[in-house]
Amino acid sequence: MSFQRIWRLKDILLNLVGIKCSDCGYTSYPPKAACPKCSSRNVSRISLGSSGKVVSYTVINVPIEGFENMLPLVIALVETDNGRVLTQLTNVKPEEVYIGMEVEATVRRSATTLDGYVPYIVKFKRSSTNNA
Ligand SMILES: [Zn+2]
Repeated sequence: MSFQRIWRLKDILLNLVGIKCSDCGYTSYPPKAACPKCSSRNVSRISLGSSGKVVSYTVINVPIEGFENMLPLVIALVETDNGRVLTQLTNVKPEEVYIGMEVEATVRRSATTLDGYVPYIVKFKRSSTNNA
């Protein structure tokens, strides 16, 4: 996808869409055809919103092929109003992350793939309303 197209889709991308299982109530992101918890296909799409709080995080210092220049990677579990999202934090140093930190979705360029394709993906950044 081109950057221009991504920019037009930004609001849709940032309004994270996940699924909610009608059988067990589990919410999941990104959307899947079946519930990852109980395998029910009785799932519907829900909006997870575009901001939330860090409930858990981990820092990856071991390079993953293709991501060597993006280390350290800060991976966080973010709780939004409607569910939880496992995501990469951007524009924040590992030592600056804390449980309860307010974050918001943003669209960022990801590592170029082997065939030269530059994907844009949703990551989370420190919320601009944070006063820290
Ligand atoms: Zn389920």
